[in-house]
Amino acid sequence: MKTILVAGGAGYIGSHMTALLVEKGFQVVVADNLSTGHRQAVKGGAALRVGDVRDAAFLDRVFSEFAIDAVVNFAAFSLVGESVTDPLKYYGNNVGGAVSMLTAMKDHGVDKIVFSSTAATYGEPEKQPIEETDRTDPTNPYGGSKLAIEGLLKWCDRAYGIRYAALRYFNAAGANGEADIGEDHHPETHLIPIVLQCALGKRERVGIYGDDYPTPDGTCVRDYIHVRDLAAAHLLALEYLDRGGQSGAFNLGSGDGFSVKEIIDTARQVTGKPIPAVTEPRRAGDPSVLIASNAKAREVLGWAPERGLETIIADAWAWHSGHPDGYGEG
Ligand code: UDP
Repeated sequence: MKTILVAGGAGYIGSHMTALLVEKGFQVVVADNLSTGHRQAVKGGAALRVGDVRDAAFLDRVFSEFAIDAVVNFAAFSLVGESVTDPLKYYGNNVGGAVSMLTAMKDHGVDKIVFSSTAATYGEPEKQPIEETDRTDPTNPYGGSKLAIEGLLKWCDRAYGIRYAALRYFNAAGANGEADIGEDHHPETHLIPIVLQCALGKRERVGIYGDDYPTPDGTCVRDYIHVRDLAAAHLLALEYLDRGGQSGAFNLGSGDGFSVKEIIDTARQVTGKPIPAVTEPRRAGDPSVLIASNAKAREVLGWAPERGLETIIADAWAWHSGHPDGYGEG
């Protein structure tokens, strides 16, 4: 396994995977339409081909130019709120992109794919921590589109022998200072970057979306996982598939939960800034608690997350304070 195609490799998590693969000596080809990704996030050492994964001719050119051994597919839209108002956009891009990627893989004899899935496939969880065998019942079209692709992957394994690891991310955060890459979304909707934009003085305050949840301090609890630990899991999943591992879904979370208030308090400590916060109404569709069981990824992939919440926030802070305008593309 030498040459890896990273679709969506100019995006937040994809760029961290690209950096790790380059560091480990793989030949990396990034395919990205740059609709939400950033050219500057793809550092030297990786080849960038700009195009859309729904474009069969584009993918055919990429698979013909490079002898691809495996695919890591990050290319997707990922805004939960937008998916609710525009489900066709989400199914069209995410499922459509997966269909054309799998078609290109089948046509070019590529039989391994690591796919970005999400904790949103579970919807309102039955219990905590969440295990891969728990009920999947998404509460928004974003999670629905990812679960549909997991179903498609299962059938493609049976029909064409394309094996997959569907990695269900919990809350990705953090940055990679050595590679000089980090999080830069427009608009930004995620808690940690928003909190750090307050610390930078770019926002006046952070709104806490509800403080009447059935949790110890009333605010939602999430499982935050360092983006570099996520990248490490993708590499382990590639290696697992390469040695003949069976297809399956894997949770990627730390196994620990932190409330919105705990995140804000930790960010105050790390940054030394006051970070004003006000309580606002609940955000529709937010489950009160989402915590991963990561036992399967530990046992089957040999993964162990290494970076805790303070490191996540400190690394994100270093990125945001060094790049107050992100990649600066407006
Ligand atoms: N959140 C918040 N204020 C914000 C953004 C997020 O209180 O400005 C809360 C949100 O309700 C959720 C948690 O922070 O409970 C994490 O939200 P995020 O959007 O980062 O990730 P999600 O859990 O939705 O994937």
